[in-house]
Amino acid sequence: MRNTKKAGKGYTLTYRKKTASADPYLPRGASGKTSVCTDCHAVYMNKRWYGDEARYRTAVQHPDTRHIRCPGCLKIRDDFPGGVVTLRGDVVHLHKQDLLNLVKNEEARARGFNPLERVMSIRENGTESIIINTTNEKMAQRLGRAVKKAFHGDVSYRWSHDNKLVRVDWVRE
Ligand SMILES: [Zn+2]
Repeated sequence: MRNTKKAGKGYTLTYRKKTASADPYLPRGASGKTSVCTDCHAVYMNKRWYGDEARYRTAVQHPDTRHIRCPGCLKIRDDFPGGVVTLRGDVVHLHKQDLLNLVKNEEARARGFNPLERVMSIRENGTESIIINTTNEKMAQRLGRAVKKAFHGDVSYRWSHDNKLVRVDWVRE
């Protein structure tokens, strides 16, 4: 395990799983109050975010509700991706629309249970590749898995040294 540190003789400090607080955009504000995102209508309550329009409509009526921008929307505003997915190979040319639809569907599905998992941008590099920036690493990994499942090919995952960015490279010739 690459994050294991020797802490003197006889024992080791083991790698502790990263929590959400390692993300500089989390947490935001006091946890006791309900917050709503003015951009995407995500709702923060019970220490988590919900992507649920009905919940937003109820929360927004309450006078104590705070109006903020959620971490997902802040990352989009700052262009601060947590994942970069590159799709390459002939299949990009042949099945571009299918790939783009798959990305959209995966994003919609992910937003249902975590509105902070988002696709920030999709760039087409001619017929060669498609580059997708995501707000967090989970969304990028999700896309890698979904594309591999649907179109086979090879996928690899590489984390930056500080674990804040994952690069997902998928290729099928
Ligand atoms: Zn938002």
